[in-house]
Amino acid sequence: MSARILVVDDVQANVRLLEVRLKAEYFDVRTARGGEEALRIARSERIDVVLLDIMMPGLSGFDVCKALKSDPKTAPIPIVIVTALDGPQDRVRALECGADDFLTKPVSEVALFARVKSLARLKATTDELQVRANAMESVGIDPSAILTQEMPVGGRVLVVDDLASTIDKAKAALGPKTVMETAATAEEAMTLAASRDFDLIITSRQLPGADGLRLCSDLKSIDRSRFTPILMATEPDDLEALRRALEMGVNDYVLRPINEDELRARARTQIRRKHYADCLRNLVNDAVEMAVKDPLTGLYNRRYLDSHLRSLLERSADNGEPVSLLMFDIDLFKSVNDVHGHASGDAVLVEFAERLKDGVRGINLVARFGGEEFIIVMPGTDLEEATTIADRLRCEVAGKPFSHKSMPDLEMTVSVGVAAFRGDGDSADGLILRADKALYAAKRDGRNRVVAEAA
Ligand code: GH3
Ligand code: MG
Ligand code: MG
Repeated sequence: MSARILVVDDVQANVRLLEVRLKAEYFDVRTARGGEEALRIARSERIDVVLLDIMMPGLSGFDVCKALKSDPKTAPIPIVIVTALDGPQDRVRALECGADDFLTKPVSEVALFARVKSLARLKATTDELQVRANAMESVGIDPSAILTQEMPVGGRVLVVDDLASTIDKAKAALGPKTVMETAATAEEAMTLAASRDFDLIITSRQLPGADGLRLCSDLKSIDRSRFTPILMATEPDDLEALRRALEMGVNDYVLRPINEDELRARARTQIRRKHYADCLRNLVNDAVEMAVKDPLTGLYNRRYLDSHLRSLLERSADNGEPVSLLMFDIDLFKSVNDVHGHASGDAVLVEFAERLKDGVRGINLVARFGGEEFIIVMPGTDLEEATTIADRLRCEVAGKPFSHKSMPDLEMTVSVGVAAFRGDGDSADGLILRADKALYAAKRDGRNRVVAEAA
């Protein structure tokens, strides 16, 4: 889906000019000839970026900007204010009204696309985050913990330049809340970028003995900085290099002499997008985690166990590799709840899960089957070996009391049933059922013991 740009200007020729250029780059364009119309469109349609003229009869660009940014529904839409060349005070005012960036008339093509693309990506990221959050909410997961996570104050920025003046400008633009590190050469920059995470890299086009473009492509090729946004500072007459930089994936640029407000606006946009993209990734990871893990113990849940076991058994039916299954049920667990409270019961479950996880190798799947019942699936392990391991785990439970600040030390025991896959004709359900039967026998025979299924 192409980004939809709303172009707002009272002069028809200006609207037309931007519209033609944007359409040529396959943007979807809407136009408005005044502030009122712009507000109406932005409130009723999906708009990804607004290009806003300042001087208009009726509502000015500043008024429209303020109105859009103060309404939670339209606040996420990035706004570019289009200012006259001779109006540095307009830029400051634009930023004060909440504008995300500005363009100077006459609008250069490179500047137009750099600005629009950078902000359209920001909008796409925040939209996607919102969609995921809604989806999580609809399945009963509260996404607010992840979403309200405020912007990491300022972010961490790497500035690559050997000119003290650039470093000073960057420091002033980024403000005291940003953690800024500097590199004077491309090699230094690569070393730093490979050793820690940055939210933004600002690099000069010209570096001592190196090409800034080469550095950008190197930064895009290492894992650590592959997704880190890059802002390039370049001379105004170096348009060809700028074009190549943007094609190569450099996210945005500032022209020298560097204007502090511009740098601040562009750095802010890039840092925000990086932050939202990070949130999105965490949200997805968390959603996947929540779908397959038990929240109390962090072990795999029954749903995951089912699908994992099924594919493992298919493979075993093919290649004849043994698979064993251990089913654990904590003995007289109910009395922990009854005597010491539910929280203590939970603490015992958590500690028990830890002991199982620590007690077996990583290729084994440890899952919480239900309440105080756990399963370990052991590929490559036959019934005899599995029974030995089960007994070792049983001893580890009985041998050391469970301790937690919420309760006195508790002596716990566990009963275990063991079964092994019988190949073709056997099933996951059959395997679990036999382990469960063996477990029942262990309980009946007096608990704190391991029983293997009868062959
Ligand atoms: P047995 O030796 O026969 O297994 O006795 P038991 O007391 O362990 O077995 P029973 O099935 O009677 O009790 C299991 C208890 O586990 C009942 C239930 O309230 C408790 N339980 C289940 N899930 C949780 C949980 O997540 N937290 C806590 N604290 N208790 C739980
Ligand atoms: Mg039970
Ligand atoms: Mg029990």
